[in-house]
Amino acid sequence: MVRTHNLGFPRIGADRELKFAQEAYWKGQSSRDQLKAVGADLRRLNWNAQHGIDFIPVGDFSFYDQMLDMSFTLGNLPERVRGYHGDVLDNYFRVARGRSAPAATGSDNPDGVAAGEMTKWFDTNYHYIVPEFRGDTTFALDASRLIEQIREAKALGVNVKPVIIGPVTYLALGKEKDDSDRLSLLPKLLPVYQQLLEAIGCEGVEWVQIDESILVTELEPAWKQAFETAYQSLSSSRTKLLLTTYFGPLLENLPLVAGLPVAGVHLDAVNARDEVQVLIEQLPADRVLSLGVINGRNIWKADLHAILDWLEPVAKQLGDRLWIAPSCSLLHVPVDLDSEQKLDGEIKSWLAFAKQKLEELRTLKSALNDGRDAVRAQLDANRTAIQSRRQSPRVNNPTVKAAVAGITGQLGQRKSSFTQRAAKQAEILKLPRYPTTTIGSFPQTSEIRRARSQFKAGTIDEATYRVAMQNEIARCVREQEALGLDVFVHGEAERNDMVEYFGEQLDGYAFSTLGWVQSYGSRCVKPPILFGDISRPKAMTVKWIKYAQSLTKKPMKGMLTGPVTILNWSFVRDDQPRSVSCQQLALAIREEVLDLEQAGVQIIQIDEAALREGLPLRRSQWQEYLTWAVDSYRICANGVADETQIHTHMCYSEFNDIIEAIAQMDADAITIETSRSDMELLEVFETFNYPNQIGPGVYDIHSPNIPSEEQIIALMKKAAKRIPPERLWVNPDCGLKTRQWEEVIPALTNMVSAARKLRVADGNNA
Ligand code: GLN
Ligand code: ZN
Repeated sequence: MVRTHNLGFPRIGADRELKFAQEAYWKGQSSRDQLKAVGADLRRLNWNAQHGIDFIPVGDFSFYDQMLDMSFTLGNLPERVRGYHGDVLDNYFRVARGRSAPAATGSDNPDGVAAGEMTKWFDTNYHYIVPEFRGDTTFALDASRLIEQIREAKALGVNVKPVIIGPVTYLALGKEKDDSDRLSLLPKLLPVYQQLLEAIGCEGVEWVQIDESILVTELEPAWKQAFETAYQSLSSSRTKLLLTTYFGPLLENLPLVAGLPVAGVHLDAVNARDEVQVLIEQLPADRVLSLGVINGRNIWKADLHAILDWLEPVAKQLGDRLWIAPSCSLLHVPVDLDSEQKLDGEIKSWLAFAKQKLEELRTLKSALNDGRDAVRAQLDANRTAIQSRRQSPRVNNPTVKAAVAGITGQLGQRKSSFTQRAAKQAEILKLPRYPTTTIGSFPQTSEIRRARSQFKAGTIDEATYRVAMQNEIARCVREQEALGLDVFVHGEAERNDMVEYFGEQLDGYAFSTLGWVQSYGSRCVKPPILFGDISRPKAMTVKWIKYAQSLTKKPMKGMLTGPVTILNWSFVRDDQPRSVSCQQLALAIREEVLDLEQAGVQIIQIDEAALREGLPLRRSQWQEYLTWAVDSYRICANGVADETQIHTHMCYSEFNDIIEAIAQMDADAITIETSRSDMELLEVFETFNYPNQIGPGVYDIHSPNIPSEEQIIALMKKAAKRIPPERLWVNPDCGLKTRQWEEVIPALTNMVSAARKLRVADGNNA
């Protein structure tokens, strides 16, 4: 008999109940007990939603983040919060976000403490709190959270399978805060894991899911050895361990995984289908093999017949040893498709969110155990949906397919070299040395948001909305005139989100109402759904930019989001390679670029904020991604005349490892985030001669602090040591939409006067 299990369920709730409860507590609007009650409710609802699954995860619920939960379970709290007493949850929030709630302030420093560093969870858009290590770090078990939840679940009749992060991954994903080596902590860590497994075992639990997600990445020999040591030492545990990996194939780590002394292994059979047989051959005959057969990262219905075609023989081969599951935790998909009231019915019939994915799993189990006839109706309905999607004219647009087939290298090639272009552009733009500009958005005031939502709801008409937005644009232009900036932006008032705004105007995109996914803490995102061939029915931004340009003699930047960023921040189709969807986006945005140029726009900025995010987990695959990502960007941007200046913007400057790809994009100017690192991130430009213009950010827009003129001058002088001053721009780190006008005005005033002083110092008064 095949059995089913789940690796994790979305914790935010179908209506983002967790977010609202967290935020109310942090603002002092609710009590800790109220927050805890919401947590308990969500766990109960989630377990209910997983009924019929043989092993249900416990410990996947979190008030902030599962890695931070693990740090607390292991007693690895940063020194700076150890002095606080009171409820553990408050200390937990101090590490998570620098402070807890007003109710918990008792001994709190009103300024809070430094929040733990946050970083991306593998290649997902989820962010975890990085464990901190020192040479003298010690661990001490606090299993209370997990044990309480195990009891809570058992009381509700749930067949529990606790979920924990494994010791090697826990260490690997953390960071040393001194010059020690975190791997040397393993001998101190393992006894605590032994105690933890013992404590879980005392609850009468049969299986524990132990996530060792780093097994899908390249490992140094010492880390491979750590796996041997760790699992040897945990092998006498009385609970059975299901060693769990996801997000990719095991490749060279497969023999290591197969040889570890655990009771079972979970493999992501969506991303590593061709490793299933190899693993079966190498795995000792008494091991359980769990196959992640339903994609836990996308929102598409699985093709159940196709899965059964390859899975039925495997089930025969393995018998009771086979478990099936989603490929990874369902944390990365929205909760419930049934909540979507507005989604187009046809598109809806192609989708599956977390609850629906578990339903697919139940169907697969019945088909495997009792034969396909036992679930004939479900399988037929699935086939109908899969065929409808495959054949739909809304998905397949022959004109778009032909355009992609017609792409040549020529399309991404500027007509002349940067030097030639730069000379022509300088002639037209007549910019001073150290030209000043901003990254695109200006503060999104509550009036702007109100007008947008009224327009969306239909309570104001298009003309009223247009006037409201034009007024905002006019305000931005006036402010920029007063500030004396050199290159203007229109302010992006009409955009709710830099990806959604374009998605809404492109054919091939759909939008959910409640398709939220946790990004970190209480922050959720609602990625648009790229379901079909992408085309642009009409110009998307031209009228706003033209209006903005009509108000000033200064150059107004056209402002677009690039194809790679649109792709990386969407749920994308699984029926064609990502690279092809990216090419389609590139062609659509290219049309917009050319329309802007046609309308007389001289500078066009194409944001690629998320280019780096798309890097594959394994370095060996980076180049392939960078090649198609950069090619797509080039197709989108480089069709313009020499005289048109192309800018791009990226929200980071960890360029060292991808600098050559960035240079190949061949943007005339690139703006990046550098202010926080004090320009240290520009180090790469010492060894790599970046050929075009650069605007290293001098204003940290994530902070309410106002940079002084001196600070900005100092930052620019540092930059000028690495990049010739005639190729430097002066600008903030990123868009200003989350800031207030009261902060933006003084900061930009300082920025403009700093640029003027730099010009004088360089003997260039232009
Ligand atoms: N142009 C966008 C803005 O200014 C860029 C945002 C981003 O890079 N995340 O808001
Ligand atoms: Zn940015």
